[in-house]
This record gives sequence, C-alpha cells and structure tokens, in this order.
Amino acid sequence: DAREAIAALRKKLSPKGDVVSPRGRERTIAVFGQPLTPHQVVDRICADVRERGLDAVLDYTEKLDGRKLDRSTVTVSAEELADAYRQADRSYLKTVRRVRDNILAFQSGILLRDATMRPAPGVELTLRYRPMRRVGICVPGGAAAYPSSLLMTVVPAQAAGVPEIAVVVPPTEFGGYNTDLLAACHLLGVTEVHRVGGAQAVAALAFGVEGIRPVDKIVGPGNLFVALAKQKVYGEVDIDSIAGPSEVVLVADWTADPEFVAADLMSQAEHSPGSGILITWEPDLIDRVADALDRQLSRLSRGDLARDSLEQFGALILVRDEDEAVELTNLFAPEHLHVSTSDAHRLAARLTNAGAIFLGHLTPVALGDYAAGPSHVLPTGGTARWASGLASNDFLKRSSLIHVDRQGLEHLAPDVRLLADKEGLTAHRYSVDVRLAEDGGLDR
Ligand code: NAD
Repeated sequence: DAREAIAALRKKLSPKGDVVSPRGRERTIAVFGQPLTPHQVVDRICADVRERGLDAVLDYTEKLDGRKLDRSTVTVSAEELADAYRQADRSYLKTVRRVRDNILAFQSGILLRDATMRPAPGVELTLRYRPMRRVGICVPGGAAAYPSSLLMTVVPAQAAGVPEIAVVVPPTEFGGYNTDLLAACHLLGVTEVHRVGGAQAVAALAFGVEGIRPVDKIVGPGNLFVALAKQKVYGEVDIDSIAGPSEVVLVADWTADPEFVAADLMSQAEHSPGSGILITWEPDLIDRVADALDRQLSRLSRGDLARDSLEQFGALILVRDEDEAVELTNLFAPEHLHVSTSDAHRLAARLTNAGAIFLGHLTPVALGDYAAGPSHVLPTGGTARWASGLASNDFLKRSSLIHVDRQGLEHLAPDVRLLADKEGLTAHRYSVDVRLAEDGGLDR
C-alpha cells in the first residue's frame, strides 16, 4: 500500500541518534572506553568543551580526526587563505564568483524590509529587522569537500548584513586543508576559519573557547554528530535545522523522460545515505525508470553507493491518480520535490510541504544544489511540514517598535486598564494612569 510505503520510508529517514552501528561501536570504545550512542557521545563532547574549552576541542580533534593541532594551527591564517586563493584554478574561482553573485542577488532580493503602520491617530507601530552580529557556519568535510555548502550558507548571511562570520570545518583534506575551500573562503571575504569539525566545533561556537568567540546562531549541514550537537546547544544559540539524509520526491506523469527521472533519483541517492522516491500514476513509467536506473547505476562512478542507498531508502511508487500523488507527497514533506509533469506549475500549487520545488523536465535538483540562488540547506526528515530552507531572512531578528503621543495613549488606555484590572496587575494600570492624570499622578 502506497501510504504505508511512504510512512515507512519517512520513519527510516529520520535517524534519532539512539542506534549504534558496528563501526560506531568500535570507534566510541576506542575514544571513550565504552560503547556510547551518538546522543551520549555528543553529550560528553559538549559538556567537556564547555568545561575545558580549547583543550577539549584539541583533544577531540586528535582522537576523532587524527590531527594534532595547537592554538596556532587550529585557526587558518590570513596568509594561508590568500595563498590558497592565489593557487586556485582560475576557472574554479570564476565559477565561485558567478554562483556567489547568483546567490547574493536572490538572497538580497527576498530580504524583509522594516514595516511601519499607524492604525489609529497618535499610534505608530514598526517591525524592524536587524542582522545578527556573529554567526557560525559548519562546512562538512569528513568524507568530501563542499565549497557549495560554504556558498549556500555564507552568502545568505552576508546578504542579511551579518558583520562577523566564523567558519568551522574538519581538519581534513576535504576540509580545513582543502585549498579550493580555503580559496572560496578568501574570495567570499571570510577571514575567520577554524579547523574543527563534528560536535566539538558546534560546542566551541556555542560556548566560545580560546580563539573562537561565541556566536548568536549556528548554521550549515553536517553528519549526525553535527546535527545532534546543534540540537543540544539550541536555546543558548539559534540554529538553522537538524539535518538528516538528503531526499527527493519526483512526481511524474507520462510526459516525463525516464532517463531524466533516473538521473534525478540517483543524484540524491549518491549522497549515500540519500533517498530518491518516484511517485506516479503511470504504470509504464515505473518500468521504464527501473530500466534506466539499472543502466545508469552501472555506468556511474558512485553507482554502487547510490544503488545501496536506493535499495535502502528509495522507492518507485504507483498511485491511483494525481490526487493520491498530492496527498502522499504532502504527507512525506520532502526536502526536494521535483514536479516532472506536463503542467508542473499547476500541480505545484497543490503541493504544500516541500523545502525546494523544481518545476518541469529541464530543472534538475542539481541546479538548486549548486548555482541557482535559493540555499540548498533545506528541511529534511519531514520537517518541511513546518520548517523552511535557509535564507538571508534567517539571519535577521525582529524588534517591534511602539510609539504613541498623548492622543494615542488615550486611545489605547481604556483597554489596557480593563485587561490590567482583570489580571490584577495594578502597576501596569498605574503606568498608564500616571501619564493621563490631571494632577500628574499619586505621589507628586
Ligand atoms: P562532517 O564535517 O559533518 O563531520 C565530520 C566530523 O564528524 C569529524 O570531524 C568528527 O569530528 C565527527 N565524527 C565522525 N565520526 C564520529 C564519531 N564516531 N564520534 C564522534 N564524532 C565523529 O562531515 P561528513 O561526515 O562528511 O558528513 C557530511 C554530511 O553532510 C553528509 O551526510 C552529507 O551528505 C551532508 N551534506 C548535506 C548538505 C545539505 O545541504 N543538505 C550539503 C553537504 C553535505
């Protein structure tokens, strides 16, 4: 049954950090002397960083990343950033600059503006937006290098006007020692990069340690340890989301090209773990996509990884009709949704729960992953029911500004008096009365 299949996949794709894999068991015994769950690992690391500061960060960096760093090598120097930029391939830098411009244009264009209204004579109300002062950005680097994630997090923050940005990235060849990544930091004007990854990086940003001042918000993707650490420090700082494995749902009709659909399913599955789900009411399409997948998976360099992921987290689901496709997609609430139908705009209007929606046959998810403008940091695990992708506006905070003159005060006073009396808050009432009293108040 299609509904059950979707519900089962949703459950599988929402890891909670309570399960220990055989490899994880070995690793935690080596580091902590006992088999801990990822939750327990993160609790330990956060508590230790809070208590011992940079020493704890350096200890975990040595134990978990196999790098012995010290105070002077943990932070990337200005010369290292400039050198990386000088050494970088010119065409790579051109691309990074172009993509930066795309992201900046979109993220600046959607920025919320202050709103002022005067609902009654003498009453002026404003909602004011101001950027956060200091933001921490996690760039993953355990298993691959992700300059795209740097772009998709740093540039929205810059569009919002955040003055201080601190990047943390694991001390690996894919991270803090990756010259392409460091060159991109330099190009974007990021001057603060620390070679720290995992839960210890999140804890350092949240609590502050020697050389890394505490931030107001932590954003960016990462593995389970990064996600659980962000969950743990939320409240002391803001976070963007708790990210799980990548997912795409493709809703397709007879106009979809099976080769395109197969490529799109694989492109999320190759994140490994990643999920690709086709929902269609065309029985033929299921068979043709299955054939195309078989062919493409055997040709792709990451085909084996993608095949494993699709076997575990993928599905080709046949539904009765378009209505059922809409119902199941909204139930699953995917991170990425690709509408591959003859009238994608019309169908998309009915699809209400999705982080990013890609419309039509010529718009693969990869465009949004790398180059278009909206951030690729998106809500996973079904959280698209209530959460949204990262955007410049997430780096703003709102303040309400209220101003009245005497006329405005008189206008609002009766309601304040009545509600203050109901709640028994006499000082609240008096703060209004004293301003309106003919004799200037009780004690003058
Ligand atoms: P990562 O930087 O998130 O994590 C690496 C760090 O995890 C290491 O430095 C180490 O400190 C810590 N760690 C690893 N094993 C540990 C253990 N057993 N105990 C404690 N700490 C441990 O890098 P990654 O592993 O490459 O993961 C990146 C993830 O981010 C991938 O799942 C990738 O798909 C995802 N990603 C998502 C997006 C997105 O926008 N949705 C973009 C890029 C990457």
